[in-house]
Amino acid sequence: MEFRPMRRKRQELTNNECEEILLKSTAGVLSVLGDEGYPYGVPISYVFAEGKLFFHSAVAGHKIDAISKYEKCSFTIIEQDEIHPDEYTTYFRSVIAFGRIRKLESMEDIIHGLKLLGEKYNPGDHLGLQHEIDKSLSHVAVLSMEIDHLSGKEAIELIRKKAN
Ligand SMILES: Cc1cc2nc3c(=O)[nH]c(=O)nc-3n(C[C@H](O)[C@H](O)[C@H](O)COP(=O)(O)OP(=O)(O)OC[C@H]3O[C@@H](n4cnc5c(N)ncnc54)[C@H](O)[C@@H]3O)c2cc1C
Repeated sequence: MEFRPMRRKRQELTNNECEEILLKSTAGVLSVLGDEGYPYGVPISYVFAEGKLFFHSAVAGHKIDAISKYEKCSFTIIEQDEIHPDEYTTYFRSVIAFGRIRKLESMEDIIHGLKLLGEKYNPGDHLGLQHEIDKSLSHVAVLSMEIDHLSGKEAIELIRKKAN
């Protein structure tokens, strides 16, 4: 499958820049095919590791039902949204990952995903994390998203600023 190119090439972020944003941001919007064909964009925390995105979730709900029916999804992060009222614009930077998402099934994979998430949001607290994992293991799902295409874009004003 060919993913469509960005029309405004100058504003395109490199793959490394996109990955930096995935590494440092704390939440994004996971978009899935929801009930009755309505796109369902749900805000969620995540970790970017091993070239994939990992999420944790309740075991039931709209997003779980949606991904069990259709694996294709996208994940959007707004890294920067700096409003310049006088210019009627925003100095933005954002990333969109397109891919396929699934619920991890093996206990080993679930614990691995939870450890990656825990280490991102509360680094170094191995004992606390283990305790949290033990508490949640019976009622948590871990989702893994394979990235098929990554694109990033920034406002033209940010490019001009860098050039000066
Ligand atoms: C910054 C941020 C980080 C979050 N991190 C996580 C996370 O790591 N893991 C996690 O499981 N959840 C997280 N949440 C909560 C998440 O957005 C969902 O509410 C939650 O995952 C339940 O989703 P669901 O599809 O199972 O909900 P359901 O209760 O099944 O959804 C039913 C309906 O409720 C509404 N709804 C659900 N969630 C929201 C919402 N956030 N805002 C508005 N309407 C909503 C929608 O209309 C949806 O169709 C986070 C939310 C925010 C804002």
